[in-house]
Amino acid sequence: MSRRSILIRGGHVVDPLNERDGISDVLVRDGVVTDVGPSLSAPGGAEVFDAAGLVVAPGLIDVHVHLREPGFEAKETIATGTAAAAAGGFTTICCMPNTRPVLDSVEVLEDLNARVERDGQVRVHPIAAITKGREGVEAVDFSALAATGAVGFSDDGDTTADSAIMRSALEASRELNRPVMVHCEDKALASGAMHEGEVSGNLGIPGIPAEAEEIIIARDLMLARLTGGWLHVCHVSTGRGIDLVRRAKAEGVRVTAEVMPHHLTMSDGWVAGERTLLNVDEPPGAPAPAADPDTKVNPPLRTAEDTRLLLAALQEGTFDVVATDHAPHAAPEKQGSPYERAAFGLSGLEFALPLMLALVRAGHFSLTDVVRRLSLEPARLLGVPLGNLAPGNIADLVVFDPEERWVVTPDRLRTKSANTPLLGMELRGRAKLTLVGGEERHRD
Ligand SMILES: [Zn+2]
Repeated sequence: MSRRSILIRGGHVVDPLNERDGISDVLVRDGVVTDVGPSLSAPGGAEVFDAAGLVVAPGLIDVHVHLREPGFEAKETIATGTAAAAAGGFTTICCMPNTRPVLDSVEVLEDLNARVERDGQVRVHPIAAITKGREGVEAVDFSALAATGAVGFSDDGDTTADSAIMRSALEASRELNRPVMVHCEDKALASGAMHEGEVSGNLGIPGIPAEAEEIIIARDLMLARLTGGWLHVCHVSTGRGIDLVRRAKAEGVRVTAEVMPHHLTMSDGWVAGERTLLNVDEPPGAPAPAADPDTKVNPPLRTAEDTRLLLAALQEGTFDVVATDHAPHAAPEKQGSPYERAAFGLSGLEFALPLMLALVRAGHFSLTDVVRRLSLEPARLLGVPLGNLAPGNIADLVVFDPEERWVVTPDRLRTKSANTPLLGMELRGRAKLTLVGGEERHRD
């Protein structure tokens, strides 16, 4: 069955790989980008989409998402999570294995792949666990899982404490050319609920020191050096943490790293009730009550100085990709609980684009930089031929309005769980059309 044709007319095409950054038309036929250029004519029967004033970019790719299915469907499902992805401009996501059952066997992965086939609105690549049950005791069968579609390995949510298992995982990563994606947290130091510092002291909330993260980043970089394996450091949140990655890269260690938009724009002051985005020029948000569980995330929101150091590391390219760590939780697990008892995690898929666009407006990045970190580089990391709009490529793309203002309310979101401290705030930037293989998966 031939798919619909669509001519996206007059948009600002941003395509870093092909060095496009200007007004162009984009023609999509049969699921493929067939032409990019000025004044294209629409073939018979094609829809013409007026993109004047809008940006046309390769579809965004998120390497760190929690879809929660199977096992935690009250938080999110493959259907709602991938709909949220499409609404956020994402056309490919990678899902973390901390489901029930854990993605640790060929059988579970095959079941997940079948669910994705049935319910997925965007492309989904699974990340398999490093250890069975994510229990840190016995390594999974890395090559069998890679052959079943695992694009990486992670015990995300926890650090794999056993250094010998980490060594074997990194050795497997070298052979399989798949990253080991690590959540760095020394559990013995990390019994708190927010960043340990002046703010946690004032609020009387137990803290998680930056060192809990940095110690494990240092260990894992050493094991990557030892093995020649591919280490991918998830959600780096501290300035010293990314400095360790910077130095390891300079020494030739095979390491990639991701940063989250919330760690670039929010600090531990948000736990105290601040609602002004950092490093941007947006109007201040109205203060919120202190200890709002929707500010609780792991790794925690760090200091304002950390946000500046992470921003600089993204500008210089020490961070390879921006990812969201989309971590939906149902309301009872978040609201109304004491801060220490509330679940860790923020909703992310529908906020990455507006938060990154705020950083563009503040002059920290160009649109090309943002598309590079949210699409081209994640595609390279996954080894998939996406992340660019060259004619002949699969038509995964997003058309977004970089200026449209919208207020974050649960009814504007496609995710099942609106656990975000951005609730009630006005953001700018919204996906208007998301195509996956030329098929419309979101229109606003
Ligand atoms: Zn994590």
